Formats: sequence, C-alpha cells, structure tokens
Amino acid sequence: MTVNDPRIHEPLARDGGRPVRSSYLIFGAPDLQDPEIAEVVEVLRSGWIGTGPRVGRFEEQFRDYVGARHAVALNSCTAGLHLSLIALGAQSGDEVIVPTMTFAATANSVCHVGARPVLVDCEPDTLNLDPRAVEAALTPKTKIIVPVHFAGRAADMTALEAIARPRGIRILEDAAHGVETVHQGRKIGTIGDCTAFSFYVTKNVVTGEGGIVTTEDEEIASWIKIAGLHGMSKDAWKRYSDDGFKHYEVEFPGFKYNMMDLQAALGLHQLARVEENWQKRATLWQRYRDAFADLPVQLPAPVRHGDRHAYHLFILLLDLDRLKWTRDQVQHALHQENIGTGIHYRAVHLHPYYRRSLGVRPESFPHATAISERTLSLPFSTKLGESDVHDVFAAVHKVLRAARR
Ligand SMILES: *Cc1c(COP(=O)(O)O)cnc(C)c1O
Repeated sequence: MTVNDPRIHEPLARDGGRPVRSSYLIFGAPDLQDPEIAEVVEVLRSGWIGTGPRVGRFEEQFRDYVGARHAVALNSCTAGLHLSLIALGAQSGDEVIVPTMTFAATANSVCHVGARPVLVDCEPDTLNLDPRAVEAALTPKTKIIVPVHFAGRAADMTALEAIARPRGIRILEDAAHGVETVHQGRKIGTIGDCTAFSFYVTKNVVTGEGGIVTTEDEEIASWIKIAGLHGMSKDAWKRYSDDGFKHYEVEFPGFKYNMMDLQAALGLHQLARVEENWQKRATLWQRYRDAFADLPVQLPAPVRHGDRHAYHLFILLLDLDRLKWTRDQVQHALHQENIGTGIHYRAVHLHPYYRRSLGVRPESFPHATAISERTLSLPFSTKLGESDVHDVFAAVHKVLRAARR
C-alpha cells in the first residue's frame, strides 16, 4: 500500500516545519471507558477500596478467560514473577535462564531471590528467546527457564518444554505482553508451572498497576496468595468485614503484593473487552504492515501457524544501513512531529548493573545488541482513532523519507 498524504512531503518539524499533529499522541495510552470508570466510582463510594470481593471476581474471570485452574491477583507482574520464583524453589546458588531481550523486571526478579540470571540471546526475527541459546546455557545449576512472549508473540514453548521437562527444570512464563497469546492451540497461562501477567497502564488489560499469576498447582496458588499478603492465614483481608473481626495468623514473613478492589474494578471491565480490543489491534497490525512495507525497516515476522499473537506492540526494526540517522534521532524527529513512540527494549545485558555483575559483553548477544539499537515501537493502543492512525502513517513516512540515505 502506498501512503498518499501531502504531509509526508512537508518540511520536518525538527527543521522548523509544521508537525504532523498539533496535539501530542501519547505512546501506550490506556483505553479506559465508562463501565470501568463507573465501577471505580462505585468502589470509592462503597468504602471498601482495598482487597475485597471484586479482586475475587476478577481472579475468577481471568482464570476462566485463560482456562487455568488457579489465578492469584497481585499489585504487579513483577510481584508475580518474584513470588513464582520463590514458589518454584529458586534461591541463592541457582541459575535462572532469562532472555536478554526483555524488560529489566524479568531479570531483576531473579536477583530479588538471590539467584543468578543467565541471559540468552533472542531470535532475530521473532525477538523471542532462542531455544538453542537456552540449551547452550544449561548447567547443573539451572533451576528455572523464564520465557517472555515478546510483543505478544508466543515463545517456542514446545521446544522449551522439550528442554526443561526431562531435566526437571521448571518453567515460569513472563506473559506481561501475552494475555491473549496461544501456542499451538494451548493458551498461555496453562503451559508453564507458573505464568505472570501484567496489567500496567500500557498493557493489553489495564488496572493501573496490577498483575496476576496463573498455575495448575493448587499448593503454589495458595502459597502465592498468602505470601502476597504478609504471610497471613488465608482470607486475612476479611479481617475488618461486616461479619466481625477475625484474628489472623502469620505463617511466614510474606510480602505486600495484594491487588486492591479499586484496581480490580478497572480489570473486570477491561477483561470483558479483551477480545474486542484484540480484534482491533489485529486489524491495525495488518494495516501498519501494509503501510510501512516499502520503508527501510524490518516488519514483524508472520505469526507461527497454529499460534495466536496478542498484538501487544507493533515494532519497526530500522534498517540502519539504509538510514543516515540513528534510531534515537528517528525517535526524536517523530517526537517533534508530536508522535510518541517506545523502545522495547535496550537489552538487559546493556544495562550497567548487569554488565558489571554478570561480566557479559555486547558481542555475546549479537541479535539482542543489534535490535537494541534498531527497535522502535509505534503507538498501538485501541484508543487510537482513524485520524490518529493516519497521523502515524504520515509521520513515519515523513521522517523515514528524510532519514533515508
Ligand atoms: C511490563 C512488563 C513487566 C512488569 O510488569 P509490571 O506489572 O509493571 O510489574 C515484566 N516483564 C515484561 C516483559 C513487561 O513488559
């Protein structure tokens, strides 16, 4: 498809021209609507804003959506990763395999339990962790593998299970991008020993801050539930309820990771629209692919047959050999056209803490290192209207036309 928009040929805003938009298009704007706004107001008026019945309903609704046996809602996906790692037995001296092409939280949570994150490179087309790199990184100390379903695309769970299961290695999925993801007919959230999802403001289902862990294991679910609320005996949140004060007992020193009803009020209605929103992003994904097909970029790879992509992010990998600008210069030029974009991600091994503590070099992860310099995420929220989409088309063409060698 050719994008025919006269704005493409105007002078760049960075050179004093008129920006494509007069107002700023925020990257990752949450799509909040009247039903959840009304529910939040109702929670505020009810006087019970903390953990309560709405969290229970949200857990049930999410569990049913995923088809998992158990779901425990928490205040973030990071909390879910942390508690899952403990539940699966990771501790000091253990190694946990983590893709380096991910958000820092995936690796940070491994450090929180005192284990060593062992970073592995990604595949250059899917950006998901490469099962061959996982195999090469195995040692007798490997306890857990943490695949991330990057941008919503399923990691190769079939290959990872074949590596992990015979060796007794556990699988914890970071499904922060993957609420709607399916791998070979199996819903993400039902495959790994634990799966952690995120409801952060930019994610596909939003509760402000929030996360949830699904698992088939009743014991793990009930431990996470207790560990997320001070280690207090089950249902301790009811202690101030209208059927009288209840004593609680602390079973172990737990964390403060519980989700509030205020958050679940958003989640209940967001989740009710999850498929409708998925459909909208699936359509936009295809339109973006068509609109940017003849630009100096690498477009997202086609979806693996039998899988379902969650379409969380739309990422352009800039072909820097054909551009005279860096990614950061392209991003800044788009910013000046009033188009917000994201970077997913500068790989974990490039951050100072991990460079220092793991003693790793950029050359050890050639794909993730190159992608870190080339990646650019376009606005992709269901909040985008038709004219917003045309503004993105125009701005990307305008800027890359100027940036071309
Ligand atoms: C957002 C994100 C997280 C963290 O989620 P929070 O709910 O903010 O803790 C973890 N991993 C990945 C890949 C993410 O994108």
